Amino acid sequence: MTESFVYEALPMRVVFGPGSMARLPGEAERIGARRILVLSTPQQRDLARRVATLLGERAVGVFAEARMHVPVETVAAAEAVAADLAADGCVAAGGGSTIGLGKALALRRGLPVLALPTTYAGSEMTPIWGLTENARKRTGRDSAVLPRSVVYDPDLTMTLPAAVSVTSGLNALAHAVEALYAPDGSPVVAAMAEQGVRDLATALPLIAGDPGDRAGRAAALRGAWLCGACLGATTMGLHHKLCHVLGGMLDLPHAETHAVMLPHVAAYNLPAAPAAAAALRRALDTDDAAAGLAALAAGLGAPGSLSELGVAEGDLARVAGEVLADPYANPRPVNRPELTALLHAAWTGETS
Ligand code: NAD
Repeated sequence: MTESFVYEALPMRVVFGPGSMARLPGEAERIGARRILVLSTPQQRDLARRVATLLGERAVGVFAEARMHVPVETVAAAEAVAADLAADGCVAAGGGSTIGLGKALALRRGLPVLALPTTYAGSEMTPIWGLTENARKRTGRDSAVLPRSVVYDPDLTMTLPAAVSVTSGLNALAHAVEALYAPDGSPVVAAMAEQGVRDLATALPLIAGDPGDRAGRAAALRGAWLCGACLGATTMGLHHKLCHVLGGMLDLPHAETHAVMLPHVAAYNLPAAPAAAAALRRALDTDDAAAGLAALAAGLGAPGSLSELGVAEGDLARVAGEVLADPYANPRPVNRPELTALLHAAWTGETS
């Protein structure tokens, strides 16, 4: 970590705890929303209905059509419903897809968002929005899309299947790892990142063993909050770039790709980022941070190689080419031979 830094606190209000969903009406009162549209995916319609019941007269409708990657058609449909109902706020009840829809409504209609996250994706902590049109996803940063209040209720994560919890949690952990060596890091971010990694590394094995472990669920959600805040505060490096290219080019599952790549990128980057390595050794209680990350992922039964995800060896050169074509912040410079070796190791799943 450099001695000079800039830290900009985002105006986030967090309400955390089992049963805290019951505090939503109070949070709505705080932001002055009287006509709330509740958002969810079709799979979480029941949750959206429960939220609407809880909000009573303050809820004017439910829009349970949120989709992955925020298609503009879905946003247009939600905007039409919001306009018809004269909504003056929304509650996004669900994971990154639902919160992404809430952010789009904030961006396009200025509707304030209350978030009720049910996964570990962390979107609720970032000013990053995304919209997909004609199969292309545009993203941007705008503080207007930040939820006005985030209610984290671990009870709502009890139904998240163990396998999804593990990959979603490892994805969150990757945000913290890269925040630890980001060019715009700071002592505040480093503290959040270290604790986020510690929470998730402790909680995920408990959840993998018993998805109903309440203490594990609370610790994982707290870790996801901290890791999401790291993502919102810093610029991500080689790991996120690689996952973005792999996902976009080869249509790989997002969270699983993060789980496979993280130990390999950590092994590559950490020798050039000693403070990050030290923080991770403390958080993971290990002598070797990259090996600790690999052991954590393997112990959780996460996919271990790109070949397991269906990547062909012949695709690796194209991936390397696209990664190298677009510069990004990274503590260790990247060249083609080293990147090719890294991708090969990830493809076979061998960690050094
Ligand atoms: P998701 O929101 O797509 O949810 C996946 C599925 O799981 C959905 O069907 C959902 O209804 C269901 N689900 C969610 N919570 C559940 C629960 N507790 N129990 C049972 N089922 C549940 O998945 P996600 O991983 O949360 O979000 C992924 C999306 O978020 C991606 O599009 C990603 O790009 C985006 N994202 C954005 C940011 C950002 O800063 N803008 C950050 C992280 C992720």
